[in-house]
Amino acid sequence: MKKLLLFTFLTSFFTISAQTDQRIYDIIDAVSAERIEKDVTKLANFGTRHTLSDTVSTTRGIGAARRWIKREFEKTSSECNDCLNVFFQKDLVKKGANKRIVKDVEVVNVLAIQKGTKYPNRYIIMSGDIDSRVSDPTNFTDDSPGANDNASGMAGTLEAARVLSKYQFENSIIYMGLSGEEQGLFGGGGIAQYAKDQGWEIIGIFNNDMIGNIKGVDGTISNVDFRIFSEPVPPTETEEQRRARRFYGGEVDGVSRQLARYVHKNVKQYMPEMNPMMIYRLDRFGRGGHHRPFNDAGFPGIRIMEAHENYTQQHQDIRVEDGIAYGDVLEHVNFEYAAKLTAVNAINLASIAWAPPAPETVKIGGIVEPAAKFQWSKVDGAKGYKIYWRDTTSPTWDHSRYVGDVTEFVLDGIVIDNYFFGVSAVGEDGFESPVVFPNGIFR
Ligand SMILES: [Zn+2]
Repeated sequence: MKKLLLFTFLTSFFTISAQTDQRIYDIIDAVSAERIEKDVTKLANFGTRHTLSDTVSTTRGIGAARRWIKREFEKTSSECNDCLNVFFQKDLVKKGANKRIVKDVEVVNVLAIQKGTKYPNRYIIMSGDIDSRVSDPTNFTDDSPGANDNASGMAGTLEAARVLSKYQFENSIIYMGLSGEEQGLFGGGGIAQYAKDQGWEIIGIFNNDMIGNIKGVDGTISNVDFRIFSEPVPPTETEEQRRARRFYGGEVDGVSRQLARYVHKNVKQYMPEMNPMMIYRLDRFGRGGHHRPFNDAGFPGIRIMEAHENYTQQHQDIRVEDGIAYGDVLEHVNFEYAAKLTAVNAINLASIAWAPPAPETVKIGGIVEPAAKFQWSKVDGAKGYKIYWRDTTSPTWDHSRYVGDVTEFVLDGIVIDNYFFGVSAVGEDGFESPVVFPNGIFR
């Protein structure tokens, strides 16, 4: 009897500790709205951070801004035994590359890499943008504070680096400041190519673009709503993969969508006060962001941003017209909210960086059988695996079963036709990889 009680106690204790991890709550608590306010203010005070603006001045223009960002990352690094490798990555973009590149320009990104202890070549990325703009995208001299678009995302990225550099992770994390966003997503394009050249294995990118505005142009105010944009399937899929989707499913289950579901689930778990909205599209209608060049390269990537935009406060000359104050100025940024969205990033960076890689192959079977069957490739470092499923109309993985350290499993009584399925790898501490949608079939 005593033994049985002890056993019950141990298993329930284990279950509880496997569900949540105190470190994730600590990370949420460590994110500072005050530091984010300080950084957004500093960035806005560079006058303009237009990609084509002054690079020589120490107080104005994108050159001064990116050197300051680099120094901030270096300061963070000096407080963690040089745990960050901080450097500029640059590409020359020639005049006329598009209408917004009115002169030759060096597009310079700032990277801070926190190397993983076990999988150093696997990278999860958080990005914000350095550059800003006013009404005319080629105007590189007028004041363009870009307080929300996108000093908020940049400040969040600096803050996430400060918080997470206190921990060690198995996978690498990159904190990135990107340039050339407003001129045509040049910075992201440059880094995506750089990542390919370096042979980096990109787990995914969280592109943060505008994470500080809580009052929408329609008057809606919410400091808990935010959006996670993800495209349905990668643009790099082959014709063969496209044809297979018709018969086996996967129209809404690409790698970026799985990353979006990961963030959604983790936020629901650890920050239940927030309202993450999964938006089933690459980006806002007809508009772009810096996750796209990563998606173009075949890497998973999502956009994290406020839910209620205010168009009079983005891409605008600072002015008053018909009683409306236009301009992306400091007064419109809610730093508490930006801190919450920074925490959203930080806990997901941490969870993924602490998790083993996802299984490379997941095969599914069970055609005309009263059971769904799975086989997957073994993952080095995984304690076990979890099978997920959901109704075909559900956006989230609503059902799951932890199946332990095996590489095949049969879900009896679950008919393959009526659900979508996926498999994740689970690490020693309970952290999970993103879910892999089956990429093969078997009989
Ligand atoms: Zn913008």
